[in-house]
Amino acid sequence: MNRRAFFSTIVGKGGRGAGGEGQVAVIDHRLCLAWDGGDCQLCFIQCPLQETAIQLEDFKPVINAIACDGCGLCRLACATVNDPGAIRMTTAVTSDQ
Ligand code: SF4
Ligand code: SF4
Repeated sequence: MNRRAFFSTIVGKGGRGAGGEGQVAVIDHRLCLAWDGGDCQLCFIQCPLQETAIQLEDFKPVINAIACDGCGLCRLACATVNDPGAIRMTTAVTSDQ
């Protein structure tokens, strides 16, 4: 089973990773393997909006909160390689808040 099939299994038919509408992913750099100099890009690889919602800068993941749809797949991916996970979901801030 490849990685994409594996994550499809754990997120279920809805295709969302325990995120939700109006949410956005946030990376805690202190907990991230890549930001600590390690070799991990799993959140980037699993993001359906790769290169839009999440990008790599010098091999380190950076979330674009404007483009992130809050699906949560990156958070689930991170939790498989990192404990505690470096990604959490938070409420997106909109311009009318
Ligand atoms: S929550 Fe979804 S869209 Fe946003 S960065 Fe993570 S995987 Fe990408
Ligand atoms: S999956 Fe987690 S540890 Fe790996 S690069 Fe992404 S945020 Fe960092």
